[in-house]
Amino acid sequence: MAKVLYHNDINEEVLMNKKVAVVGYGSQGHAHAQNLKESGHQVVVGLRKGKSWDKAEQDGQEVKTVPEAVEEADVVMVLLPDEHQPKVFEEQIKPNLQAGNALVFAHGFNVHFNQVVPPADVDVFLVAPKGPGHLVRRTFEEGAGVPALIGVEQDYTGEAKELALAYAKGIGAGRAGVLETTFQEETETDLFGEQAVLCGGLSNLVKSGFETLTEAGYQPEVAYFECMHELKLIVDLMYEGGLEGMRYSISDTAQWGDFVSGPRVINEETKARMQEVLSDIQTGKFAKGWIMENQVNRPEFNATNNLENNHQIEKVGRELRELMPFVKQQKKQKQEV
Ligand code: NDP
Ligand code: MG
Ligand code: MG
Repeated sequence: MAKVLYHNDINEEVLMNKKVAVVGYGSQGHAHAQNLKESGHQVVVGLRKGKSWDKAEQDGQEVKTVPEAVEEADVVMVLLPDEHQPKVFEEQIKPNLQAGNALVFAHGFNVHFNQVVPPADVDVFLVAPKGPGHLVRRTFEEGAGVPALIGVEQDYTGEAKELALAYAKGIGAGRAGVLETTFQEETETDLFGEQAVLCGGLSNLVKSGFETLTEAGYQPEVAYFECMHELKLIVDLMYEGGLEGMRYSISDTAQWGDFVSGPRVINEETKARMQEVLSDIQTGKFAKGWIMENQVNRPEFNATNNLENNHQIEKVGRELRELMPFVKQQKKQKQEV
């Protein structure tokens, strides 16, 4: 089994006399900056003037422009949206890095696909929380944490791994577990997970189930509750007890249906498609397409987004959720995987 490190296995000293620039104050940025500060580290937030700048100041952070923050920091954590990182890196981060600094990412995409090419005389490593930024903050406040992956791409100083571990501990990840990986493994598994299972796979499974029922004449509201709303209850059971725990709680009829019909829906054919998805990630085909889509201002992304938001399951869902005030709306709370 892979070695998982916890809070008490990690020495944070190596980060104590260093200044950390957290560049970006969005989903991940606000969590890293606040958690590190409360763990006793020195933090400066790097931003442009605007919404995030005001919020960071309200939270009591020291806020500077990106070039200024990078200039005075020893460790630079890049928490900008992945699509904006290459440009900001070239123009504002790279010119202000000094030999022996550390350049840190929360996702391997840009380094792995050569969209960001760090200078040779800095440490480059990954501290990738395996959970949304808002949970990185909330669990920390509760005395818990979100697990994180660390990975060293470039070890200029000889202490890159110790720094990565100390950083992970500083954001609270040590309470949940820190696991070592590489930029390649983190990038490829993250993209695969979100495409085939967590986001792409799941949303299409839900939609197909809803369409099958409504096209057969069943009420959309009933189909919504069955295929979307109940999902959370099932996922919570899986989260706590794996498939076995989920199957313990459901009826034996549901479990028998799971065994006989599940493999009819998701089968060898589906797995062959998953292998194609994985292969497009590994060869860089997916990355190239996404980079190009951004270069032309996302025509397909935006068109698909509009279409998806107008799907019948979304319209019915909006109406039903209005009537369930206990279902907390998280529209504004960006959560990535
Ligand atoms: P967000 O989109 O939530 O935050 C972006 C932040 O960057 C905002 O504070 C924004 O400020 C700032 N920003 C954008 N452009 C610029 C610019 N040109 N100059 C200065 N600041 C700018 O990003 P995420 O937190 O979602 O993602 C950050 C990284 O973390 C990514 O690499 C992502 O893959 C990774 N990650 C994210 C997870 C998540 O939970 N979201 C999970 C695991 C990893 P402004 O208000 O000025 O626009
Ligand atoms: Mg049922
Ligand atoms: Mg991701």
